[in-house]
Amino acid sequence: MTRPVAKLGILDISPYVPGKNSARGSRIHKLSSNESPFGASAPAKAAFASKVDSLEFYPDGSVTALRAAIANRYGVNPASIVCGAGSDELLQLLAHAYLGVGDEAVYSQHGFLVYPIAISANGATAVVAPEVDFTADVDAMLNCVGPKTRMVFLANPNNPTGTYLPLNEVTRLHEGLPKTTLLVLDAAYAEYVRRNDYESGMELVATSENVVMTRTFSKIYGLAGLRLGWAYCPSHVADALNRIRGPFNVSSAAIAAGIAAINDQQFVESAVVHNEKWLAVLTERFRVMGIGVTPSVGNFLLLHFAATGAKTAPAADAFLLDHGIILRRMEAYGLSQCLRMTVGSEEANHAVIAALTEFLK
Ligand SMILES: *Cc1c(COP(=O)(O)O)cnc(C)c1O
Repeated sequence: MTRPVAKLGILDISPYVPGKNSARGSRIHKLSSNESPFGASAPAKAAFASKVDSLEFYPDGSVTALRAAIANRYGVNPASIVCGAGSDELLQLLAHAYLGVGDEAVYSQHGFLVYPIAISANGATAVVAPEVDFTADVDAMLNCVGPKTRMVFLANPNNPTGTYLPLNEVTRLHEGLPKTTLLVLDAAYAEYVRRNDYESGMELVATSENVVMTRTFSKIYGLAGLRLGWAYCPSHVADALNRIRGPFNVSSAAIAAGIAAINDQQFVESAVVHNEKWLAVLTERFRVMGIGVTPSVGNFLLLHFAATGAKTAPAADAFLLDHGIILRRMEAYGLSQCLRMTVGSEEANHAVIAALTEFLK
């Protein structure tokens, strides 16, 4: 050895590739990263701006006021909340705390790609459970669980498929796991879901010792650039995370904006109304054009194109980029025949409908 070598597993990781952010054209519609078409709410922006004259001070390392605001909103104990620089950081911290060489962690076939990164980064082995109809399959996931399984990751709803598991299925998954296996419910899109049989995971966390739920301010709250997320944890898990997280892992501006954002539920409600309307309209319009659409409860749609010929997903992507529209290619998820589209503004959505209509002529 003539130079330092990264730990086992690190160099097996395929780096996470974020959505593109440039295209041709003067009016660009970036619908590649599930970002909000509404930006952040006015009170959140004002709270962020209010920190500009105190940037020399470290933030409150225990994030007391934001944890209290979150706990108040959901009626839980603030000691069970741990905040992070995006929920990505919390997912990484959970893997860091519970996974090592020789351990296994399970996620589903089209699960969020941060999971395999977090698993491999800690030298553990990822075990991938097949899905049915682009939806996590509880039986397949439980079949992957063995004596070495220390964690199971489930995005619910899942990105990039937009599908979800109802509470009874999540409960069945939990009941099938050993008590020593940690179930991580990544509920990044929970605020968007309007289904009576859906529950984000609050209840399961509250009533067990091996379930954690992660949430984010990046999606419906429109604060992705600030990097802010939180985890609702059993107290022993919160204790572990608090020991390994950076002492000031959340910035003062993110704390201030997060408190204002979570107290502005009218903003959230109007984003949900917009999303519900456009999920239905876009799904219908695309299907009429002959594009397959996986039913979604998130703020995005998985579009299925022809596998061969002139109207493939890569061809559609190139055509859309020429028209200033950026969707997300899905090769990294093994879905090369698909593109993922974030629900955008009314203008952006109409632009996609028009461009795909022209593309398919
Ligand atoms: C966007 C997203 C997140 C959120 O990531 P942040 O780090 O909070 O921005 C987490 N999980 C899934 C499945 C996502 O799509």
